Amino acid sequence: MTMESDDDYCEDFDICIEYEDEDGEEVEMEKIETGPNKDSDNNYPYEVLSTDKIVKDMLESINSIGAIIKIPATTTRILLQHFKWDREKLLDKFYSEDLSQLFKDAHVVDPARQSSSPETVGELAAADMEEDCAICLMPLARKMMTGLECDHRFCEDCWNEYLSTKIMQEGECQTIRCPAHKCDILVDDETVMRLIKQSKVKVKYEHLITNSFVQFNRLLKWCPSPGCTNAIKVQYSDFKLVKCSCGYAFCYKCTSKWHEPINCELLKKWMIRFEEDSATLTWIGQNSKDCPNCATPIEKNGGCNLIHCSTCAFSFCWMCLRKTNNHYCKCNRFENEGENREGSKKENKSAFRKYFHYSERFMNHANSLKFESNLYDFVKEKMFEMQRITNLTWTEVLFLRNAVDILCRCRTILMYTYALAYFVVKNNQFNIFEDNQQDLEQATESLSQFLEQDLKNEDLGEIKQKVMNKSSYCENRRKVLVDHVYEGYEKDWWSYLSMH
Ligand SMILES: [Zn+2]
Ligand SMILES: [Zn+2]
Ligand SMILES: [Zn+2]
Ligand SMILES: [Zn+2]
Ligand SMILES: [Zn+2]
Ligand SMILES: [Zn+2]
Repeated sequence: MTMESDDDYCEDFDICIEYEDEDGEEVEMEKIETGPNKDSDNNYPYEVLSTDKIVKDMLESINSIGAIIKIPATTTRILLQHFKWDREKLLDKFYSEDLSQLFKDAHVVDPARQSSSPETVGELAAADMEEDCAICLMPLARKMMTGLECDHRFCEDCWNEYLSTKIMQEGECQTIRCPAHKCDILVDDETVMRLIKQSKVKVKYEHLITNSFVQFNRLLKWCPSPGCTNAIKVQYSDFKLVKCSCGYAFCYKCTSKWHEPINCELLKKWMIRFEEDSATLTWIGQNSKDCPNCATPIEKNGGCNLIHCSTCAFSFCWMCLRKTNNHYCKCNRFENEGENREGSKKENKSAFRKYFHYSERFMNHANSLKFESNLYDFVKEKMFEMQRITNLTWTEVLFLRNAVDILCRCRTILMYTYALAYFVVKNNQFNIFEDNQQDLEQATESLSQFLEQDLKNEDLGEIKQKVMNKSSYCENRRKVLVDHVYEGYEKDWWSYLSMH
């Protein structure tokens, strides 16, 4: 599929959903700093870190470890980086293993060796003696040369050029080594900052260090929203919802847009399958079908799946094209007619029909979600109108916007249930899952229909109660479905199709 480059579009599908808090207010910094996880993940503590806080966090990690192992901060950082910022692992190795081997593996000079060789009187006297820089071959006074603990010395101009090239052109920061031939000692931060002359190189270096701190740290991840510079800090990595202060809601484990209730592994498989069949999907993703009764082409222009043909007044379900009589038609299940197994041709055909069934419904919810941004506009108008006519305050009419939030959330979940259902092998629990899916879909379609169609004509006094009833019913059904899926993950109810 083509990727939408800008704003809030999901990386994987072209869906645009802005999550908002349940009270309908735009999400504020303070509110979500500690993550109000209302949904099924009640206790997943996390923190949103701005760039300043990330640096602070890095320094704190270095200092707290440095205080225990008592070696210089610059060396501590290299050691922590070596253990991917896993402090327990570093402490464990530090106290259980051969230290000189540990320093060797981390490419630092053993700090004990450094301090045991203080400059002797002879060396001090030699400071005035000339020495050739091994890079530019200029003879310079020894005191003009500088180097790391490995004692390879170069002139400051060569250092500056060497470091600037590494940083600006090669984007290196954690892996810059002493320029001497075959020396693998890493250059520490202090030395880098001391020897770089241009401030733009210094800024870039700091940026690279922060970036690699986040990248290699299991408990930190950058917010994937384009342009956002925050990181999320957790206590353990998991398939859980985290919300950045920029408003982006994503899965901590795989950093995809939040995809409850399908887990990260299955979502990945689904996306692979999805990309393989992109040609089919262009066709599935169409928003125009012919009326099954009079063949008039009908363009779908809302999220609601109940379609009325304006030519012949026939009502039908957009998904299965059956007559509906104004009711949700319950066609979420894939019925494998006959389930016969004669010959591989039939099997192939039925396998494709199955995939088609799920991907069509997956895409349909994705498409409906695109329409919901129009619904936000429409509802906003309605909210102004209600305030004008009924003297209600803004907070009193917020229930309408909340209802659209709920609608979007339910649609997103329904969308992912079709990806999940594709992989799950039928059993009793799966049957219950499909009942739950049907109930949620029915509740969602009913809310969708009310907001898109009935709201226009409804008596203003009655709207509130009706919308509140419908949306809280959706919320209940959503919770039942999601909790059941999670229980299934825990209790191993789900077994999956093997994929080729
Ligand atoms: Zn030089
Ligand atoms: Zn060296
Ligand atoms: Zn963000
Ligand atoms: Zn995930
Ligand atoms: Zn018709
Ligand atoms: Zn149907």
